[in-house]
Amino acid sequence: MKICIQPVGEVDREVLEFLEKQLGKLFGECKILKPMDIPSEAYNPLRDQFNSTVILRKLPTTCDVTLGVTEVDLYADNLNFVFGEAELFGRRAIISLKRLRQEFYGLPEDKELLKVRALKEAIHEIGHVLGLEHCKGRCVMRFSNSIVEVDMKDWWFCESCLKKLSKISI
Ligand SMILES: [Zn+2]
Ligand SMILES: [Zn+2]
Repeated sequence: MKICIQPVGEVDREVLEFLEKQLGKLFGECKILKPMDIPSEAYNPLRDQFNSTVILRKLPTTCDVTLGVTEVDLYADNLNFVFGEAELFGRRAIISLKRLRQEFYGLPEDKELLKVRALKEAIHEIGHVLGLEHCKGRCVMRFSNSIVEVDMKDWWFCESCLKKLSKISI
């Protein structure tokens, strides 16, 4: 399976390259595409945030899975913010690094932690693209609504999700 990472706006290169390496190992093939501009129509000045669905729909569909990665803060309808969003059984997903950074919470920068969080969120959203829904187990598909929950969940699929995946694809 070929995964493409699509930087949306200027994105931390170290994190992108970490994701490229890890996702390549886990899913077979991964490459970083040329960065694209953040679609201006996604910006909501009242919230000072970007609509994740609007960006998601602008991502290319040429790879098996395209993972958008951005530094800007994302929201979706009815949600104050989202770490990411995906098309269930589709081809595209997006994650934001904004709230995965320690600095967002007034703490000193921690690049290693940021990379692990980004990988978890990337795998989670790719799981949705591959057709997985949220899982209550100790699993990367667990729903996380806060950074504490991101840190608590596992970085890979549980046995039950893996079984579902093997029926669907990879
Ligand atoms: Zn989810
Ligand atoms: Zn699971």
